Amino acid sequence: MLRKILNSDEFGKEEIKTILSSSTEEEFELLKNKATETLKKFSSDKVYLRGLVEFSNICECNCFYCGIRKSNKSVNRFTLDDDEVLEQAKWCSEKGFGSFVIQSGEVKNEKFISRIIRILKRIKEETKSESQPDGLGITLSVGEHQKETYKRLFEAGAHRYLLRIESSNRELFEKIHPPEQLFERRIQCLHDLKDVGFQVGTGVMIGIPGQTLDNLAKDILFFKKMDIDMLGMGPFIVHKETPFAEYYEENLKNLHDIFRLSLNMIAAARIVLKDVNIASTTALQAIHPNGREEGLLYGANVIMPLLTPASVRKDYLLYEGKPYLEAGAEECLDCLKSSIENLDRETGLFEYGDPKHFFNRKMH
Ligand code: SAH
Repeated sequence: MLRKILNSDEFGKEEIKTILSSSTEEEFELLKNKATETLKKFSSDKVYLRGLVEFSNICECNCFYCGIRKSNKSVNRFTLDDDEVLEQAKWCSEKGFGSFVIQSGEVKNEKFISRIIRILKRIKEETKSESQPDGLGITLSVGEHQKETYKRLFEAGAHRYLLRIESSNRELFEKIHPPEQLFERRIQCLHDLKDVGFQVGTGVMIGIPGQTLDNLAKDILFFKKMDIDMLGMGPFIVHKETPFAEYYEENLKNLHDIFRLSLNMIAAARIVLKDVNIASTTALQAIHPNGREEGLLYGANVIMPLLTPASVRKDYLLYEGKPYLEAGAEECLDCLKSSIENLDRETGLFEYGDPKHFFNRKMH
């Protein structure tokens, strides 16, 4: 059944559900092979590194699942200095990471936006090199904003933007967000980002209480309909100081299955969407020591090593069990490169590694 579906090139909701239901070693092999073949044919099987800096954990939102939500009073709030961000960006540029990601809580005021703009301009200016004359590629993940603001961020030098839909099912979206955070607004932002010219990424959490395979299959169709360029998906992991705390035990018990489902979801996204970039996320690694490498085997082609300064890493806790929290627990770049090599994959250094989909959709 799975083999037949993978050989056809028609993927509707039922076919995607079959992919997501894969549960035997034989089926996992089929998924890995098809995902890798698709990656090679429509994208490139190089693995791109993006250094991720968590810029600030100050947040005006109250997402029910998120550890840095506004109402969590036990969080020690921080914002990095411009120079701290710059230092990490320069390190990335020297090491050959083609791109840099700035993520933060959502703050809408002008002071915050103009600071980000100032930082973007400095990064573009100060990371120019022979291999990257325009400086590092920059991805932003700083939440919902007005179209005008997105335009200013784009003009300041960011060229990719990640904004997860979290779930494309309206009911589920409403179950995990307070009423003032609107599903329509999130979708509008994705359209605005695309209009402004960004390479646009979205994604969902996998294993949200009440989420079904049907929901996840429709998420993939949603990504396709929205013509999305990049995807970041990962397991939902309960944070104890959120309204989802009551699901802690159940979530913990299910993490093994949620991990499995996340890999199937990555494979399904690769097989159906073909030429997008897919990140193998930190959350995958939070619940499995080789989580990110596994993600690569199932069709992911981007890894985002955490470069937030160690002193504030523990304050950017979206979920329990986030890796690299202890002082000195730095991501080892050589280890990462050799584990990529061990998978028979090449690390794409000194290049942006843009999603092919962005250029393919522009040609239509
Ligand atoms: N403020 C930015 C960045 C959000 S954090 C924005 O709104 O886009 C990045 C992602 O972390 C979120 O989109 C969400 O999918 C994920 N996340 C948050 N809490 C999580 C949890 N408990 N388990 C797993 N992923 C979580």
